[in-house]
Amino acid sequence: MSAGRPPGPDTMRAMVLESPGRPLVPVERPIPRAGPGQLLLRVRACGVCRTDLHLLDGELDLPTPRVLGHQIVGVVAGEDRRVGVPWLGWTCGECAYCNSGRENLCERARFTGRDFDGGFAEFAVADERFCLPIPDGYPDLQAAPLLCAGLIGFRALRMCDDASRLGLYGFGAAAHIICQVAVWQGRRVFAFSRAGDEPAQALARELGAEWAGASEDVSPEPLDAAIIFAPVGALVPAALRALAPGGTVVCAGIHMSDIPSLPYELLWGERSVRSVANLTRADGREFLELAPRVPVRTRVSSYALARAGDALEDLRDGRLVGAAVVVP
Ligand SMILES: [Zn+2]
Ligand SMILES: [Zn+2]
Repeated sequence: MSAGRPPGPDTMRAMVLESPGRPLVPVERPIPRAGPGQLLLRVRACGVCRTDLHLLDGELDLPTPRVLGHQIVGVVAGEDRRVGVPWLGWTCGECAYCNSGRENLCERARFTGRDFDGGFAEFAVADERFCLPIPDGYPDLQAAPLLCAGLIGFRALRMCDDASRLGLYGFGAAAHIICQVAVWQGRRVFAFSRAGDEPAQALARELGAEWAGASEDVSPEPLDAAIIFAPVGALVPAALRALAPGGTVVCAGIHMSDIPSLPYELLWGERSVRSVANLTRADGREFLELAPRVPVRTRVSSYALARAGDALEDLRDGRLVGAAVVVP
């Protein structure tokens, strides 16, 4: 099988994870069929997320073989309708979490590109109830990173309440979107990234951060809240150290290396540490309605489908500025 050969009429090209720890491989496979309540989508673009890297590396469990990718911009087959498919792909609708506006915590939730095949393919199917409207005016490529980097970043930003001095740790796809929203909301943004990552720091300043520096730097001012996007547990005590009393550290990633032990005085003063898990459909609709009003402008690097694995490695190595998007 080769991704370089044109597929037959009933088959498509997909990049498949056959087992964790192995590179994605190009496969020609049958175009999936939409079941009841599902849409068959021709994938126009699919964003690359750090969660895809955690799945690839086996840091999160998943059944294989699997097509990764959970920021899908697609067009409904046979229609002229564009929709977005986010990470939350299905919930039970009947548990205590689903019935209290917290479907992101549903214990039976299923996720795009983990429990179902995702968007690193020419076609995908998705439950129509979990598809989101893409705002007009966003080209496919620019819309894709809104669907996870944007949505989950937005949920994390809401956990910061009315914090006026906001720290962002890790300035990649999510932070470059949330920086724009936070500045538009009138917050002051302080961006922390890998030491020497001048392109990320320059982008942060360009997008309105009033200060950008290395994660090891002392914050120029105490922060009212900090969001950690980088999967680095050592950033938790670093961010706590930067917080003013009453401040919150929000861990926005699905996986993080271990958090080192820390002196209680870093938490004292009613500081708190919390995580953000997944998203609700309400988060999605709210953020996608807000994004064009800011307006959020995403910075993307596009990769052909066969290069989805290269996009993941560029993300791993910090070679990206902004977000990576795979285009079938
Ligand atoms: Zn994601
Ligand atoms: Zn549920």
